[in-house]
Amino acid sequence: MELVYCAYCKHRRKAYTKKHLNLVNIGYSLLLSFLLMLIVWQGFHPGVFVFITVFLFIQETAIQMRRRLSVQCNSCGFDPVLYVRSPDLAKQRVQKILNTKKESAEYLLAANNPFEHIRHNNSKNNLPSESIDNSR
Ligand SMILES: [Zn+2]
Repeated sequence: MELVYCAYCKHRRKAYTKKHLNLVNIGYSLLLSFLLMLIVWQGFHPGVFVFITVFLFIQETAIQMRRRLSVQCNSCGFDPVLYVRSPDLAKQRVQKILNTKKESAEYLLAANNPFEHIRHNNSKNNLPSESIDNSR
C-alpha cells in the first residue's frame, strides 16, 4: 500500500499500487503447488504444473482486482481508470456521489471532507463535472 492523492479532491489515502505478480508471489505459488502435489500424490507428479498455473492465475487476478478496487477515491468517488476510458461516465459518478454527500451533510463532520480542496466556482450547483470541464 502506498499513499496516493486523489486527482480530483486531493485527499491523501492509502491504495494498492502493485500491478502484477512479483518473484515472491511466484515463489508462494511454487511452494504451495509442490506441497499440494506431495499431499495428493505422495511424490513428483506432472499435475504440479496445473497447480502452479492455477495459483499464478488466481494471484494475478486477485492483485489486479485489489488494485482496481483501491484506485477509486473513497471521499469523492473519482475513478481515474474510468476517467481515462469514459470521462463523461466518471463525471456522472462523481457528481452523483458528491450530490448524495452534499444532501446528507455528513461530510461536514467527516475526516475526509470531499469539498475541502475542490475549487469553488460561482456556478449554480458547483457540480464536479463543471469543475472538471473548467480544468481542461
Ligand atoms: Zn477524491
